[in-house]
Amino acid sequence: MTVAAVTPAREVMRTLPGDAVRQILWRFADRYELHMLVQSTRAVARGPVARLVASGERNNHEWTPAKNELLEAFDRAGITGVFMEPEHGGFLSGPKNLAMALVAFELAWVDGGAATGSLASGLALAPIHERGTPEQVEHYMRLAAPPQPGEDRRPWRGAFALTEPIPYVGVDTGLLSGKLSVAEWTEGSEPMLKVEKRGRFITNIGFANFVTAAVDSGDPRVKGTCMVILEEGDPGIFDRGTATKKLVHQLSSTGDPIFSLTIPASRIVGGYTVKDGVIVPNYNHSEVIEAVFRRTRVTVGLMTSAKLLSAVEPVIRYQRGRFRGAETATPGSVRYELGIQQREDALHRLVDVWASGEASASLGFAAARLFDEVDPLEIEKNAQLKEKGIAGGRAELKFWREVEQKTARLLALPSKDPAREELESDFFARYALLEAQANVLCPATKLWNTGVGVNMLREAVSLMGGYGITEDCPGYLANKWMDAQLEATYEGPEAVQRRQLSITMTNEVFLAQFRAWIKEMRGIASERPGTGACTLATAMTMWLWTLEYLQNAKDANGEKLYAGPRQGVTFPLADALCWLLASRCQILDVLELEARGPQDPVASEGLEGTVNFLRDLCHVQNARAAGEVSRICSELVYGYNRHPAWDTEGHKACFLDEELDAYEAIIPGMAASARDVVTIEGKHPLKAGPCAGCAGSVDFLHLQNKLATCLTGTRLAKDRAAEAVARVMIPEALDYPA
Ligand SMILES: Cc1cc2nc3c(=O)[nH]c(=O)nc-3n(C[C@H](O)[C@H](O)[C@H](O)COP(=O)(O)OP(=O)(O)OC[C@H]3O[C@@H](n4cnc5c(N)ncnc54)[C@H](O)[C@@H]3O)c2cc1C
Repeated sequence: MTVAAVTPAREVMRTLPGDAVRQILWRFADRYELHMLVQSTRAVARGPVARLVASGERNNHEWTPAKNELLEAFDRAGITGVFMEPEHGGFLSGPKNLAMALVAFELAWVDGGAATGSLASGLALAPIHERGTPEQVEHYMRLAAPPQPGEDRRPWRGAFALTEPIPYVGVDTGLLSGKLSVAEWTEGSEPMLKVEKRGRFITNIGFANFVTAAVDSGDPRVKGTCMVILEEGDPGIFDRGTATKKLVHQLSSTGDPIFSLTIPASRIVGGYTVKDGVIVPNYNHSEVIEAVFRRTRVTVGLMTSAKLLSAVEPVIRYQRGRFRGAETATPGSVRYELGIQQREDALHRLVDVWASGEASASLGFAAARLFDEVDPLEIEKNAQLKEKGIAGGRAELKFWREVEQKTARLLALPSKDPAREELESDFFARYALLEAQANVLCPATKLWNTGVGVNMLREAVSLMGGYGITEDCPGYLANKWMDAQLEATYEGPEAVQRRQLSITMTNEVFLAQFRAWIKEMRGIASERPGTGACTLATAMTMWLWTLEYLQNAKDANGEKLYAGPRQGVTFPLADALCWLLASRCQILDVLELEARGPQDPVASEGLEGTVNFLRDLCHVQNARAAGEVSRICSELVYGYNRHPAWDTEGHKACFLDEELDAYEAIIPGMAASARDVVTIEGKHPLKAGPCAGCAGSVDFLHLQNKLATCLTGTRLAKDRAAEAVARVMIPEALDYPA
């Protein structure tokens, strides 16, 4: 493409999207406390963190004094305090998912390890925050809060220990080898418990003062599993173990600790009761980690989004300056001004990286905001269920089944039907709706942002040529590429997220919501065709059709297709869904910017060009998502049927050349259109067998045809986006050191 070849009469983006634009896109424009948090976190990321990376501190595995200084920098910047309520020494009231997400995003923009280190203390506190007793919350939050001005105190740091040495934990978190037994229990006094736990790959362990650890009963007087709080001063062994020889995230501390400690039973997270001489924890470890991970995994997903978006500026700068200094590249020449950006492929590939970064950030921040909405409702839900006397057990299951059926029914009503208002006015219907979405968006963010993100980061690295895989590469892209693989792995690798999605995405409330989203996309497409929302709606319809088909169809051996053990069916379908969800969130964010941008004095500057560009990125990303969905769905719909062969059975579907001659006499042209013709000697066309058909394939092929034509215009959008990338102004130098 030459730049002159595409000359749309429309505004082109002038500068990279700045904070004002991001605040609107990710819906925190009205939250000034978050603006300040972003700024203070950014100062740490692009100051002390970047300096540590630039000085080679990632080249050793140990927790060094230089790395340790980051902890105080986090305290000073308010990062440590984000997790706490104001009454415990924090400064943000209300839910903190979006705030935590923004912190992780800013730190990971420069270094994923620094982001993980900052999050890990929150992860250690999360079991206490989510399920701890009021006393535990009060005690540990205060200890971990950053010192107030004038206060001479070191905050406690925490680590979260679930993973154990092989063969335990990993994906199957139900199997624990860590054990809890009674050490001493005298009548009328609190039991003392013995904890034996070995951890593997435990973040923050180099300096943690307390650890929240998952353990199983090793004693008939303790029932089931639970999480316990360990302190470094507890009697026994608190061995931090050797540092993990990580290739990634070296600015965080990771090791394999060994604990053999005696603790009071009051350290069981969430407390316990005693029944018939047995200690029964109020929450088993699965209940605690489920509540924790469903929030923290969103934040991890956003770390990879930050890396993708952070790659844009260094790549543009490299591409533009690539030939400067050569005799043939004189200032003012295309070669001098545009460098590699003269070439279409270089621009298109960068557009792809950028588009996936936007989509993943949109998905992740939508998920974080959703959890901010769910958090207070969850507390109220628990209180209301308790009041009704149906908290836990079968009664609660039955109650939710009825609520979900009602919610799905309401969602299916036309949008103008007054009965739909109940979705807002009925507390439980509203909760069921948000919960169904959160149960999908969280694993989708973790899975898609990190898994697809790591592959796209490889693309970003490749755009820098040899420079990309050196330590000198601005933006530390190779580090970010490798680091993203850890983000895809920890807090549960992809299989965990896919397994969860394969269940939550078939929830009837979610599917009813998904159908409403298809309509929503068609509506947007009629007013904003340039977003590619129509392409997305068709791809969403294809996904839904395929899910319903697979839920009812059987394979060539008569086995059910959509079933838990058939990960070959359920997992790819989960992947396909994530592409769709990310694209939908991306479109909604751009619409928000278009609507609210004009009122913002900063964002309104050059807004039209920015919106045009971001809209084109939506279109590009939708096309990619549609392609992925089409590929995955066709393989699943057709792939489990046995292909006909050139045998007696397969021949039944063929014409004999003799009978074709006879037909030709009656239906002229028949011979030319017949596909599979076999001679009397059994000779047949050179291919695997007669062409395959498939039950319901007409509907599927219709959708696929439609989807292909829906791609109309997507490459024009890519050309326009590429042109904008070649023109956009960038700062003279990156604002953190190489
Ligand atoms: C740097 C670092 C920091 C970490 N920090 C912590 C921490 O602070 N606290 C903590 O508790 N843990 C931590 N971890 C551990 C991390 O959470 C685990 O490594 C992760 O959950 C994966 O478990 P695993 O390594 O045992 O992989 P495995 O379970 O062995 O998985 C290997 C592969 O097999 C696949 N697989 C496994 N089981 C299945 C299945 N049932 N179905 C389909 N596929 C499957 C997985 O998807 C993966 O691709 C950390 C790890 C690292 C590397």
